[in-house]
Amino acid sequence: MAVDTPARIAILGAGPIGLEAALYARFLGYDVDIYERGCVADNILRWGHVRMFSPFGMNRSTLGLAALRAQDESYVPPGDDECLTGLDYVDRYLLPLSHTDLLADHLRLGIEVVGVGRPDLLKGEEIGTEDRADSDFRILCRDSAGAEFVAAAEVVIDTTGVFGNPNWAGQGGVPAIGEMMLRDRIEYGVPDVLGSARPQHVGRKTLVIGAGYSAATTVVALAKLAEEAPDTHVTWLVRQTSAAGPLAPIADDRLVGRATLTSEANRLATSGSPQVTFKPRMNLVSVKYDEAASKFHVELAGEVSEKDEFDVIVANVGSRPDTGIYRELQVHQCYATEGPMKLAAVLQETVSGDCLAQTARGPQSLTNPEPDFYILGAKSYGRNPSFLVSIGLEQIRDLFTIIGDRADLDLYKTAIRLLG
Ligand SMILES: Cc1cc2nc3c(=O)[nH]c(=O)nc-3n(C[C@H](O)[C@H](O)[C@H](O)COP(=O)(O)OP(=O)(O)OC[C@H]3O[C@@H](n4cnc5c(N)ncnc54)[C@H](O)[C@@H]3O)c2cc1C
Repeated sequence: MAVDTPARIAILGAGPIGLEAALYARFLGYDVDIYERGCVADNILRWGHVRMFSPFGMNRSTLGLAALRAQDESYVPPGDDECLTGLDYVDRYLLPLSHTDLLADHLRLGIEVVGVGRPDLLKGEEIGTEDRADSDFRILCRDSAGAEFVAAAEVVIDTTGVFGNPNWAGQGGVPAIGEMMLRDRIEYGVPDVLGSARPQHVGRKTLVIGAGYSAATTVVALAKLAEEAPDTHVTWLVRQTSAAGPLAPIADDRLVGRATLTSEANRLATSGSPQVTFKPRMNLVSVKYDEAASKFHVELAGEVSEKDEFDVIVANVGSRPDTGIYRELQVHQCYATEGPMKLAAVLQETVSGDCLAQTARGPQSLTNPEPDFYILGAKSYGRNPSFLVSIGLEQIRDLFTIIGDRADLDLYKTAIRLLG
């Protein structure tokens, strides 16, 4: 719905899309609060050692650069062609952006959003009507000391991502027997195997589960570690594979880093290496941890079943949205991805292995039955892993044509002029 300035917009999450959405809203004259449970770009910092596939030019906006230059004439952005590590992206762009006058006073760091509702309406009332917008949103927040408080806003944009909410590693996505008990012992992120996580992996046996780029990153790093320390070993477990290997190569891939990772991971899987054991078409059935021996005991099943033991388990099996935040709102979710339905439906129409072969799907794809509540960024794709920051920037532009009620509104085009 169109919302006049100066309305209050709550943005949940200070990742790249939350920050850019906040900036856009500030330029248009809205009051903005950005609630972030950790620090700026907390999720990216968890994989900060990994080099991004997409060059910086795809991960920044003209509005962001203009705000940074207006704040500090000496600011020098990374080159548009540079593929930065996650940490560099945060240090050289997102963090300085969060320090600009436009955003700094609007950031509420260390504040987790627990749930969002309407104070005068339950989920099942005023079904799908704009009358639901008559009362502001009630946002339950929790600070880092555990104290709870309530905030209000006329518009809520949920950009809390998915990275903090990993899938289960067990067969069919249901936890393996024993997995729930060991949630804190199993590594679901992308460990810095050649850096800070080296002591946990060097000279030890690691089980890596998953067939996406994160799993490939972990396996390739472990194989490198094994070149330096040959008593290091990795077992790579995947549900499905092809003749090329577990990762489907993208023809004439424009992202060089992605192409290199794919071919290196597939080579390790298919050509064999004394330190890498590839186990295709197998699943994790059960897992136990032996405290005395500091070992995981696992049962794996495919055509045959087998038992093994490992020092470390890394489950890079994707992530899902935390839908609990908007459980009391009328959000229509996709039954396959748990993303908002309209967007999921249009994404379903174009199935491509290459996330570069996509564009934003227009303003209407971002709406759902709950008026003035929007899901942008990685979370808008639900479990679909093909989201890119560049898509999120387009989503922001599209969304504010609705909120600002101007079909031709595009601050990215006018950013330079706006800030002189
Ligand atoms: C290893 C790896 C490499 C990647 N490489 C690329 C790449 O090259 N190019 C690319 O475009 N994308 C890449 N991605 C995807 C990238 O992570 C996303 O595109 C991007 O981070 C999405 O931004 P976002 O703002 O939507 O979500 P996020 O970056 O996930 O930010 C969400 C924020 O919300 C906060 N939050 C979560 N829950 C709450 C809550 N309840 N209350 C308050 N705050 C909360 C989190 O702490 C976090 O700061 C990569 C991902 C991984 C894992």
